[in-house]
Amino acid sequence: MVDLQETLQKLFGFEDFRGAQREIIEALMDGEDVLGIMTTGAGKSLCYQLPAMILPGVTLVISPLIALMQDQVDQMHRRGMLEATFINSSLPPSEVRNRMEGMRVGGYKIVYVAPERLRSQEFLKLLHDIPISLLVVDEAHCISEWGHDFRTDYLQIGVVREKLGNVPVLALTATATREVQEDILIHLRMQNCQQFVTGFDRPNITFIFQCEATREDKYREALAFLRKQRGAGIIYSSSRNECEEVARFLQRALPDDPVAFYHAGLYPEERKQVLDGFMQGRIRIVVATNAFGMGIDKPDIRFVLHLHVPSSVEGYYQEAGRAGRDGKPSLCMTIYNEQDRAIHHFFMKREFPTEREFDTACHMFHAGIGEDGLFRGSWREMLRWPGLDDDKLSLLVHHWENIGGLEMIDFTGDTVIARVDLERIRSRRLDVMHAIERLKLRRFGKLNRMVELLRAPVCHREGILSYFGEHLRVRPDICCDVCNAELKLNPTLIDATLGALDWQRILDDLLPEDVLDPRMAARISLSMTEGEEAYRVGQQKNLDELPRLYELLQSPSVTTRRMACSAIGKIGAPQAAPYLLPMLQDSNPQVRQYALKALEKIGDRRCVPAVAALLRREEKDYNIRQARQMLATWGEGY
Ligand code: ADP
Repeated sequence: MVDLQETLQKLFGFEDFRGAQREIIEALMDGEDVLGIMTTGAGKSLCYQLPAMILPGVTLVISPLIALMQDQVDQMHRRGMLEATFINSSLPPSEVRNRMEGMRVGGYKIVYVAPERLRSQEFLKLLHDIPISLLVVDEAHCISEWGHDFRTDYLQIGVVREKLGNVPVLALTATATREVQEDILIHLRMQNCQQFVTGFDRPNITFIFQCEATREDKYREALAFLRKQRGAGIIYSSSRNECEEVARFLQRALPDDPVAFYHAGLYPEERKQVLDGFMQGRIRIVVATNAFGMGIDKPDIRFVLHLHVPSSVEGYYQEAGRAGRDGKPSLCMTIYNEQDRAIHHFFMKREFPTEREFDTACHMFHAGIGEDGLFRGSWREMLRWPGLDDDKLSLLVHHWENIGGLEMIDFTGDTVIARVDLERIRSRRLDVMHAIERLKLRRFGKLNRMVELLRAPVCHREGILSYFGEHLRVRPDICCDVCNAELKLNPTLIDATLGALDWQRILDDLLPEDVLDPRMAARISLSMTEGEEAYRVGQQKNLDELPRLYELLQSPSVTTRRMACSAIGKIGAPQAAPYLLPMLQDSNPQVRQYALKALEKIGDRRCVPAVAALLRREEKDYNIRQARQMLATWGEGY
């Protein structure tokens, strides 16, 4: 028996396992399949790197990002685990061959590959010839058409898994809805697997959503926000153009701050420069498209600002989740406007092949079929086919494979060799177009859920968690702009914390402990007369009587507490508001009702968080209506 704890200390230098790491590793060592859904920064890599070092054969890790593979392998090498390597398109063919030979002679314990590699017959044969102990699918949500990051290449993994027999599989992801989880299990043929969900909540992240009428307002608010932030941050924008535009605007507006931009249209060296600059702290703010994504393992990102409506909640949460990996307070702000949705529609529509492009692809495949009946081509050349790009062509190929119209014989790097049955493809054109249409609708549906999340007048944290099918267990002190309305006025963590403390201090000062003194309990035994007293004071609207009314709020009699609330409301003095707030938690719904009405009369916007909190737990319709009405009057967007 291997002592896992000792191995952990020896190889990784960590004292103990985190969260579900130990359970996951033990299950894998027992030969079970595992689905691990763990938040960013939870320590997913260790769950397979450690077993890889102990298990007899090779651990094959399928990962979508070349940069990520390199990082992981470098990290393992630094820790002295030299039997780790990666094989991907960044390597020259001779090096790919060397590494494959290394695999054959047992030189590696862990090998990272991109999913495309599984299309290479040569590689598949190698996998067949050597002992594979564990198959790991990183970013497993890419396997699901329900996922926000669906990649057709990922579907190949299921086939490979079947070919490898019963090798245990570990599927890992940081974001997965129930549908995505099910898809992962089906595609990877994971029956009876163990599931570990470590919870999606990131308590150190504060969420602020803000709607602005115009683009100019959006930029102005973004600038105001950025002026208040310290530390490194990422700004996500919707397109390459906007990304550059925002970066230029900020470079002028914040001349002392190093700001750079990043998107897929830059040369690889430029992208690397920005990434390295950001990781090493030379660049403080990166304005990026979603190409600046997975693999950014910078622990001290203090803020993520979205300057548009993200295209899905999963995508949003993954991007926002890059903030605060070190566990320190971090802010995620989204400033959007209604036109953002239209921009998405425009781009989304263009992501899917049209009927005409379907026909073009058929025509071009036809032209490339040789005497042996096989299509041979170069993927790079194929991307120049009119109207078609990487996404559209991959999607068509995927659907043609699904209907049995195309069989990929080899697809390694740039070379494509396929058997194509054009007659079948043409006869199923309508089915394929319908399937693509469904996919499109699903994408629009995801966008709509994101818009709903932004607009909903409820706690953003709860909204996000409920999207992933989870309930909030503990609400952090600084949660979101619904729970902490002061964040709307002043979106900084430092000020927000002070704001919350101040408010608490006011309450503490004004509600001395002796209010609950037993002597007081004796004095309020005459509750009926007190009720009358409260009523009388209310009629007189006498400010001097407030201290007495505060006492009456503590009465054991419901009527007295109700009357006292009502009287305080009639006086309408702002300084009385903090006394009324605890009454929103009174066990009697009518007292809560009177307290709400009194607060409405006083009209202090600082009560918004308390009213919003009441709304979340209130059961009585009349209180829910009242609270909603107040929030609608007080705060835009509630
Ligand atoms: P994820 O892939 O889940 O986002 P990583 O695997 O990159 O997270 O791990 C995040 C960080 O936590 C890494 O720096 C890693 O070295 C560290 N880490 C992982 N497991 C442990 C542990 N048991 N104790 C201390 N640090 C750990």
